[in-house]
Amino acid sequence: MLHSSIAQDFDAIIIGGGISGMFMVYRLRSLGMKVRAFENGSDVGGTWYWNRYPGARFDSESWTYGYTFSEELLQEWDWTENYSPQPHTLKYLQYVADKFDLRRDMTFNAEVIAAHFDDAATMWTITLRDGRKFSAPILVTGLGPLSAHTLPDIKGRDDYQGQAVHTARWPKEGVDLKGKRVGIIGTGASAIQAIPEIAKEAGQLTVFQRTPNWAAPLHNAKISKEEMAEIKTRYEEIYASCRETVAYFIHNPDPRGTFEVTEEERLEHWEKLYASPGFGIWLGNFRDILTDEKANALMTEWAANKVRQRVNDPIVAERLIPKNHGFGTRRLPLESGYFETYNRDNVELVSVLEEPIDRITRSGVKTSNREFDFDILIYATGFDGVAGPYDRIDFCGPNGRKLIDDWKVLPRTFLGVQAEGFPNLFMVLGPHTARGNIPRNIEEISDWVVGLIKFMRDKGHERCEPRPGPVETYTQEVLEVDALLLSSKVPSWQTGVNRNVEGKSVPRPLGYNGGAPRYRKKAAKVAAGGYKEFKFS
Ligand code: NAP
Repeated sequence: MLHSSIAQDFDAIIIGGGISGMFMVYRLRSLGMKVRAFENGSDVGGTWYWNRYPGARFDSESWTYGYTFSEELLQEWDWTENYSPQPHTLKYLQYVADKFDLRRDMTFNAEVIAAHFDDAATMWTITLRDGRKFSAPILVTGLGPLSAHTLPDIKGRDDYQGQAVHTARWPKEGVDLKGKRVGIIGTGASAIQAIPEIAKEAGQLTVFQRTPNWAAPLHNAKISKEEMAEIKTRYEEIYASCRETVAYFIHNPDPRGTFEVTEEERLEHWEKLYASPGFGIWLGNFRDILTDEKANALMTEWAANKVRQRVNDPIVAERLIPKNHGFGTRRLPLESGYFETYNRDNVELVSVLEEPIDRITRSGVKTSNREFDFDILIYATGFDGVAGPYDRIDFCGPNGRKLIDDWKVLPRTFLGVQAEGFPNLFMVLGPHTARGNIPRNIEEISDWVVGLIKFMRDKGHERCEPRPGPVETYTQEVLEVDALLLSSKVPSWQTGVNRNVEGKSVPRPLGYNGGAPRYRKKAAKVAAGGYKEFKFS
């Protein structure tokens, strides 16, 4: 079909071949649409394709993580650990791609660098890094909130002559750490998973920590064949209970307030949560832990004592205790022996707050008072979160309107699925969608977007974009619910802060923090009302 002078290659183009992109290929194809997903990696998997560092695994219970769209798939797949390690998760996603023949509609090694909208033709044209261009009237993004990894903005980075790797670009063939002198910069969730594993292999491991992070035990365990068989009988119940919780996990806040219980009950609850697997200590804590400063301060002091109990050297323990943000006000990393790793003779913690990094040298790292030589330097320096992946693609709407300019201060969207002024651009897990147990959010938002696209097609509409009023109201709600959380003022990828990226030093809301049930209800109401919040033509 020809629209104006632009040849249409597909009915819809999808950017990304991770959990979102794969699901959108499946769903849009089942509407009878000619679709193609473009993925930067050489295969499916997204996050689980790229993040192959030692120790990478789920923080979500495995049996709450898989796709739910196919009962057959649920019954066929066996999770082997309560928190699946990266290789098994990647195998799972490859299995899904094989089973539903998804790769037939996917192009790999294809980095999308631009997406421009032709107003007269109602057509998006994407440009790949190698110069190829493809067009479709509908563009769907499945970029993931954590796909734009960032290197530290430290002088001399390019001078380093040893092997340098970012956790999110860990080589497929692995890294030989045995007996090596290893340096790692960063102590976020990736590093907190990687450090205990690297320490077991390396001759010497030096950890450069800027901001210490809170972390709590994961308590992973194997899943036996019998347990897996039993889990399979309960999938309906498990996923129904996830739908009831605030972040789509099995964990939900305790309805009691921190000060509504006796000290004995409080301590008993915290000990129980700390000894239980998963995010309970973060998401199943007293209802006011993440909103009330006094409640949070009490929990923070309790968690600090846990670090003191687990780390032998009191000076190292104090270094590991965050002083500038309360417990749980950044995304809580879960760990397996992280704190005890600092009791090993071959591990040293360097606080760059006390001893700033001057520069990276040819052979390692120079701080204000020492020089370190490394065979391997690991950057666990994180991501330009949520909006970052969008900033890296030149999204250009009608009249030359650039998404990156629009989002400089704050993204403005309706339900996080469409940005104002960018017709037919549908985002899965873009800024301002509800977030938590990621595949659960992805399936829900994707299905909602597919419903909207189906509505357009059934009604013969070619173009869809949100009306300014609903965008304004929704954006206000995003701001209001975000302000209720203590995390709203804390710099982290979740609040869009990344000091390695210019202009990203001020926290701003990038998710919908009103909870998954409220988001779902809102989205369902819009669909039931015939999508009146959108302009169609
Ligand atoms: P991150 O949490 O953003 O941590 C990056 C670390 O690098 C921070 O400690 C940061 O210090 C440090 N850093 C950055 N630039 C630096 C510089 N120039 N000098 C010194 N230090 C620097 O990134 P991440 O650990 O990759 O985790 C990101 C998110 O990915 C997590 O919060 C989580 O949502 C997700 N994740 C999930 C899993 C899982 O589900 N199992 C595992 C890993 C990651 P500052 O804090 O001072 O900036």
